Amino acid sequence: MMEDGFVIAIDGPAGAGKSTISRLLAKRLGITYLDTGAMYRAVALAAKRKNMDMDDRTGLGALCRSLDLYFDTTKDPPRLLLGEEDITGLIRTPEMDMLASRVSAIKEVREAMTQLQRKMARQAKRVVAEGRDMGTVVFPDARFKFFLTASLAERAKRRYRERIDRGERVEESTVQQEIKLRDEQDQNRSLAPLKPAQDAVIIDTTDLSVDQVLERISQEISMTNTS
Ligand code: C5P
Repeated sequence: MMEDGFVIAIDGPAGAGKSTISRLLAKRLGITYLDTGAMYRAVALAAKRKNMDMDDRTGLGALCRSLDLYFDTTKDPPRLLLGEEDITGLIRTPEMDMLASRVSAIKEVREAMTQLQRKMARQAKRVVAEGRDMGTVVFPDARFKFFLTASLAERAKRRYRERIDRGERVEESTVQQEIKLRDEQDQNRSLAPLKPAQDAVIIDTTDLSVDQVLERISQEISMTNTS
C-alpha cells in the first residue's frame, strides 16, 4: 500500500500500554507516532463545543471532514492541534473517554477519520499507528501488527495511577467500571470493533514492564527487515 513506507499497527483495549509503547517505539525507530484515539477524542471535544446532537450522524460526519487536526511531532510526547489551539490536555478527561467511544461508533465519523489517518500515514511514510482498528481496518496491509492486552484489574490500576498523578480524586473501582464499559462499547459496535487482526502478534502486558514489551516488539520487528 505504501511502497516507500511502512506501518506498525498497535491495537488493544484501554490501559493495555499502547500509548506508552507506541510513543517509545516510534522514538526508538525514529519514525512518526500516530495516536488515532486522540483524533476520536478531538471529534468528541469539537462536537461537544458545538453542542451537537450525538445522533446527528450526517452533521458529525461533516464536522469531522471540517476539522483541522495536526500532530506536532516535534514535541515529545506529540501535541495535538485543532486549528491553532493545543487540545492535548483537554481531550484527556473521563468525559472525553466516553464521548470519544460514543462518536467513534458512528459510520460517518469512522469513514472520515480512517481517510485522514491514511493520509497522515502516507505523508509521514513510516508510522507506529495506535488505536483499535489499525491492523483490522485502517492499515490491513501493515507490515507489523501487535495487539496489546492486560487483565482488567491491571489496566484499571494503570489508569487509576495516571489519573491520581494528574491530581484527580477518583476511586480505583470507578476507573475499573469506566474502562469495562468503554471496552464493551468498543468491542460490541458493528463497525471496526476492537479485536485483534488475524495476523496480529498478541502480547499480554499484565506482568511485563514497559521495557520488556518494547523488547518483545523489537524482536518481532528485527526478524523482518524494516528498511
Ligand atoms: O485510545 P484512546 O483511549 O485515546 O481512544 C479513545 C476512544 O476512541 C476509544 O475508546 C475508542 O472508542 C475510539 N477509538 C476508535 N478507533 C481507534 C482509536 C480510538 O474507535 N482507532
